[in-house]
Amino acid sequence: MPISEFDIIARYFAAHPGRREDVVLGIGDDAALLQVPPGVDLVLAVDTLVSGVHFPTGTPPQDIGYKALAVNLSDLAAMGAVPAWFSLALTLPEADEDWLARFAGGLFELADAHGLALIGGDTTRGPLTVSVQVAGFVPRGSALRRAGARPGDVVCVTGTVGDAALGLQVAQGKIDRGNGDNAFLCNRLNRPTPRVAAGLALRKRAHAGIDISDGVAADLQHLLEAGGVGARLELDALPLSDAFTRYLADAPERDRALALVLSGGDDYELCVCLAPEAYESLPALDVPLTRVGTIEAAPGLRCLDSAGRELAVVPGGYRHFAT
Ligand code: ADP
Ligand code: MG
Repeated sequence: MPISEFDIIARYFAAHPGRREDVVLGIGDDAALLQVPPGVDLVLAVDTLVSGVHFPTGTPPQDIGYKALAVNLSDLAAMGAVPAWFSLALTLPEADEDWLARFAGGLFELADAHGLALIGGDTTRGPLTVSVQVAGFVPRGSALRRAGARPGDVVCVTGTVGDAALGLQVAQGKIDRGNGDNAFLCNRLNRPTPRVAAGLALRKRAHAGIDISDGVAADLQHLLEAGGVGARLELDALPLSDAFTRYLADAPERDRALALVLSGGDDYELCVCLAPEAYESLPALDVPLTRVGTIEAAPGLRCLDSAGRELAVVPGGYRHFAT
């Protein structure tokens, strides 16, 4: 006997504890009622994951749940916001209880880790699509924006880049890097770590920031355009995981492998620009922060190796509507 949408909401989403004092009314009414603390700006982001577009069709449901929230938390992290609440618009081809239990498990694993409350949503039937909206706060006027980078600023990225793009090739069966690296790379694709704590620390010190969802080059370019500046990116400084470094050593064309780092999607690391003094005096973060380049006055992005040679492959980003 298939369950109704009301049973789905009650069993898998409303039943999860995760109460917050600032939720006056959560799931169950026509809309949620929330108390925004005084002296803050409310920060909102929404991101949709479409099956077959944003994740391969065989992705485990617990990873889909985790990632749907993670990519939104990454947007809040990039603004330097503290996340508080989220809503979930779920479109399902069928009411599969095993799938729902696993999906909700992954979703709430990350929500609980950040003290977030699910405050509402929508449940419909159709091709598998997961839309999450997340809300958080920054002290009024203090959000970290894309605009604001200044010539001379240090360009930094958190964590390592390129793993998820490689993980996608593993998931699609295009490459096989052996069990250990395959698992690591797929985990980086399916369970990105939103850099929330790093975003909070960097908000107070950085001039500009963005999260890397479409590759370092594509997202850094957005930041440069917003700031009316350019940058020099040091290819040899890009922080790579051990798994990616092994791949690079085996790759027949080094430039093509590096282009994957620059334009591959789904890293969900942060890219920030800081004055050199601010960079030197940063407190320890919960993730490594690596200097990868310098902001320059001349517009455009120049990707150079340590010999001053420019990358032969022009990195692009994923475009949904490109012809
Ligand atoms: P309405 O017809 O008024 O939009 P719904 O039946 O869509 O009401 O939703 C009923 C309640 O359940 C609302 O509070 C809504 O926010 C919540 N809700 C619906 N789907 C979800 C979901 N997938 N996750 C969390 N809450 C949900
Ligand atoms: Mg509704």
